[in-house]
Amino acid sequence: MTGSKPLLGGIELGGTKCICFIGTAPDDIREQVSVPTGSDPETTLSRIVDQLKAWQSLHGRLAALGIASFGPVDLATQSSTYGFITSTAKPGWRFVDVAGHLTRAFKVPTSFDTDVNGAALAEGRWGAARELADFAYLTVGTGIGVGLVVNGNLVYGFSHPELGHARMARLAGDDWPGACALHRDCVEGLASGTAIAARTGMPAEQVPADSPVWQAVAHALAQLLHTIVLATAPRRIILGGGVTQSRPELLSRVRALLLQSLNGYLALEELAGPIAHYIVAPGLGSLAGPMGALALASNAYRSVSRAHA
Ligand code: ZN
Repeated sequence: MTGSKPLLGGIELGGTKCICFIGTAPDDIREQVSVPTGSDPETTLSRIVDQLKAWQSLHGRLAALGIASFGPVDLATQSSTYGFITSTAKPGWRFVDVAGHLTRAFKVPTSFDTDVNGAALAEGRWGAARELADFAYLTVGTGIGVGLVVNGNLVYGFSHPELGHARMARLAGDDWPGACALHRDCVEGLASGTAIAARTGMPAEQVPADSPVWQAVAHALAQLLHTIVLATAPRRIILGGGVTQSRPELLSRVRALLLQSLNGYLALEELAGPIAHYIVAPGLGSLAGPMGALALASNAYRSVSRAHA
């Protein structure tokens, strides 16, 4: 271990690439590399392990590991498939024991969660939701994910929330069938990067700002936010992910549509103030995802230190 702070390892396992790094804090990342997420999990995970081990020989032993993975994943600790990526559509990755593979390789305290929950934790610790016990983090990218923090804790039931697949009121006059393989016009089927590409025939970041598709996208996202506001009463909603990053003007459209949709209901002071302070971009920008893995590693380290205290 270098210095007084524990050296942590982080892995953000994404559908196309994995970002691996070691460091002690967001402003102290010592090494970082991106590994493509191939169709053979064994090869991808071995490359990650080899890289982290090479860094360990240079920088010292890792104190804990955090894995923020694309999903769906099994987070039920009693389950026989705990730590697995489960029913993903990604070829080769169905029911892969990601957490088990990495835990066996390093034998250090490890925390495993979804990339969305990780990013929510990171935003709470270092980003746009510092000091807030109740907030929501949304990612709008290839898919749509929601991490909910209530009373200082992430929300889990039998699994992590999957609000990206909720069905919402459709924009009047819009009858495009939607792109979700399971639900067609759920929010992810209407507003994810995948849906936007299916609808326009081009990657979301290339769709012009004046395309009518953005109206449908903003509407679906505002409907999802309407539900989140009513369900968990967050003090702030962070809107991240690749689609929102490439189209920052989406934020103001979603804010306006949310206010319109709520129609004066709820006396939440955050909604009465400038709504630009209520629906915000991630404080960590595009680092919210990888820093999620760091936040998870930090949690793993803390829980073990507490147990030994
Ligand atoms: Zn769906």
